[in-house]
Amino acid sequence: MEGRSNLFSLFMFAVTLPVTAVVLIAVAPKLAASDDGRLILVLLVAPLSLALVITLIKIVATPAVRYVRLAWLKRHQPDAEYGVTPPRCKGCGYDLRASPDQCPECGTPVDGMDGTIIRYLIKLRRLDELNRK
Ligand SMILES: [Zn+2]
Repeated sequence: MEGRSNLFSLFMFAVTLPVTAVVLIAVAPKLAASDDGRLILVLLVAPLSLALVITLIKIVATPAVRYVRLAWLKRHQPDAEYGVTPPRCKGCGYDLRASPDQCPECGTPVDGMDGTIIRYLIKLRRLDELNRK
């Protein structure tokens, strides 16, 4: 979908730019001589210019928005990992995403369900790491 949209944008750019240029250079002086000609010129150039502007905005703004969004997400990492919020220590609130047995801060034992969630998250991280190599 994304690729097709970019292809369409490039096509629009490749079509509207030369057509607009030809109209402005070759046809415009002849048409501008009469009132009807000027109207035809406006009716021809206005939609082409609009298509050109929309295409330019798509080509420039879409990657810019994507870049800003990714940069924001990198700075503001959500707490959830694989859609799961890592459990916190019941004693001190320490983030237990790497400690399935007991809290490294206060030594409180981690309960069974939280331990299972933490082991699962550790396993998913390992799988991701292996898939990246
Ligand atoms: Zn703790």
